[in-house]
Amino acid sequence: MKRILITGGAGFIGSHLCERLLQEGNEVICLDNFFTGSKENIIHLLNNPFFELVRHDVTSPYYAEVEEIYNLACPASPIHYQYNPIKTIKTSVMGAINMLGLAKRVRATILQASTSEVYGDPQVHPQSESYWGHVNPIGIRSCYDEGKRCAETLFMDYHTQNNVAIKIVRIFNTYGPRMHPNDGRVVSNFIVQALQNKPITIYGDGSQTRSFQYVDDLVEGMIRMMQTSKDVVGPINIGNPGEFTILELAQKVLALTNSKSEIVHLPLPQDDPMQRRPDISKAKQQLNGWEPTCNLDTGLRKTIDYFQKIIL
Ligand code: NAD
Ligand code: UDP
Repeated sequence: MKRILITGGAGFIGSHLCERLLQEGNEVICLDNFFTGSKENIIHLLNNPFFELVRHDVTSPYYAEVEEIYNLACPASPIHYQYNPIKTIKTSVMGAINMLGLAKRVRATILQASTSEVYGDPQVHPQSESYWGHVNPIGIRSCYDEGKRCAETLFMDYHTQNNVAIKIVRIFNTYGPRMHPNDGRVVSNFIVQALQNKPITIYGDGSQTRSFQYVDDLVEGMIRMMQTSKDVVGPINIGNPGEFTILELAQKVLALTNSKSEIVHLPLPQDDPMQRRPDISKAKQQLNGWEPTCNLDTGLRKTIDYFQKIIL
């Protein structure tokens, strides 16, 4: 049994990670300020004596004797991270400094939930870890993209300068149960709109692409990354290479929900990346043959079942 700290543990991905690590017999401390996460996401874990919930903001230092830290605290949906951009970048940068300081002090291994956004609007396709990215440093997405890039720098510097055991994973668009219905991300938006027979809002002409990964595949990849030997530090892409246009996604959701919704087109937000697909050869090689096992149709069905229960 290990004692594991998960920052952002009451969020969408964090709650699945808490659940899985408890199932595997670990003790889990879930730290969250509930900005975008909620107690609802982890309410079913609260009776477990090996689970501890702490209301705390990662921009302030935190101390606990733990062996592993998964650093997920940070709003992930563009609507939420753009709501208070200064707070977003503080969360990424000061959160990383505080958690790396903790890892250094207690000699814990620390994993950073980085993002495909470090590649920006990529000019190399698919994106492999060696690509440095194409990021606007002063746009509306910069608080998130540059915050996450700076966090990666801090992780690497704590590793080389202080020998902290680090792991960096670059997560590509992930979806599944416990996404917030008003989260604003494309999968939850389309499913909620389709189930309510409201217009499906496609930003731009819908030709931009994303590669969607089901949350269980991500959690498996993150845990395998944490278990690698100390010399594997990453960054490693974790995503599903199946690539779809946003229009294709809308059509899939409409078909799977039998919805009467019509498609409407709204303006494309500034700096919205036009294409995104992970090269996952490094993950396959270094994470013991890891690869996604859930295709988009299966994952969407599971996610639709979840939203049907909570909104209808
Ligand atoms: P989420 O918004 O559901 O979860 C983020 C959690 O962090 C929430 O519970 C929120 O309350 C908490 N949080 C935010 N600021 C905090 C702070 N200052 N102190 C303490 N807690 C704070 O989003 P998610 O999709 O679960 O994302 C989790 C992590 O994975 C994020 O770091 C995100 O950047 C990363 N990620 C997610 C995706 C994706 O597609 N979901 C893709 C790439 C990276
Ligand atoms: N998008 C859309 N309609 C929506 C929400 C998002 O067309 O209601 C588009 C958005 O412009 C982007 C893609 O879907 O091109 C993915 O958006 P999301 O916010 O889920 O993630 P990110 O842009 O961070 O990858």
